[in-house]
Amino acid sequence: MRIRKEDGAGGKYMMDFLKKHVISRFDSRAGEIALSDLDDSSDFDGYAFTTDSYVVTPPIFPGGSIGSLAICGTSNDLAVMGAKPAIMSMSLIIQDGFTVENLDRILDDMAGWLEKINAQIITGDTKVVEANIGIAANTSGIGLKNKHLERNLEVVREYRSYPYSWVRDRGLAEGDAIIITGNIAEHAAAVMASREGFGFELDVESDVYAVWLFLKHALDTGGITAMKDPTRGGIAAALNEMAEKSRVGIIIEEERIPIGENVKSFCDVLGLDPMSMANEGKVVMGVVADQAEDVLKTLKKAGQKDAAIVGHATSEFEEVVVETPIGTRKVLPPPVADPIPRVC
Ligand code: MG
Repeated sequence: MRIRKEDGAGGKYMMDFLKKHVISRFDSRAGEIALSDLDDSSDFDGYAFTTDSYVVTPPIFPGGSIGSLAICGTSNDLAVMGAKPAIMSMSLIIQDGFTVENLDRILDDMAGWLEKINAQIITGDTKVVEANIGIAANTSGIGLKNKHLERNLEVVREYRSYPYSWVRDRGLAEGDAIIITGNIAEHAAAVMASREGFGFELDVESDVYAVWLFLKHALDTGGITAMKDPTRGGIAAALNEMAEKSRVGIIIEEERIPIGENVKSFCDVLGLDPMSMANEGKVVMGVVADQAEDVLKTLKKAGQKDAAIVGHATSEFEEVVVETPIGTRKVLPPPVADPIPRVC
């Protein structure tokens, strides 16, 4: 047997692969969150902890680079727990012959994002190899509990008991509003369109962004019960994971899903499903119904002008269901594999 691309593609095959080969050997917990919970981060001694590797090709794309992804992506996995990204490691594997100009551009992007979120890299490693990889990066991150998280949990607990000390992806309950913080599918579309020989003009940049910069304000408003950053597998994967772990259904109104016109027609022409395409600066969140309008207002004020309430959690069924503008309903299944490989 050999490893297949699907085994690392973020969909159902990867889940099966992880369960069989990884979780069966290593499952444990140091704090509240176990490896097998497969949440965006785990925790120990009151800190959030996560790691992620980046293999995007091309490594420099409209709106960012593998450097922006390596900082934003890892810090986003901390931020969606309500943790303030603080300390990071960086490990680079670089192909012999990679240009120093491109490497400097990538490192500048990393430094720029670290400064914006006020985080630091304090340890790292570099290897140069002959294998045809361009550049690959790994970052790990440690996140801190903070007053924004505490405020959010306080507000949630005015409405119901919430047994977690972080914002968990399994925290949804019936009636919670579902918010998407901005236009979907822009990262995957921008990277795909920028590939050599692709031959399709698309005036869209990657949405790569450090979501902590707006989440801290949303947490201050409070009432957020569950969050995920919809990267590989897009909002289809994130919504399904939240529903399954929370044991509730989710109903989404299709016409409320924020998407740019150009990305929508790009996907239409190429037969791509924007719901399963990667985002790198967006959050899918569940919010106590009474707080949803206020959280939405806060998100818009914090620069997420396309944020929208797209649906709610329900106990009517256990799937993610999308309602079309003419009122028909269809199940939105979790993506099985990756429609566009190597975008993150
Ligand atoms: Mg994540």
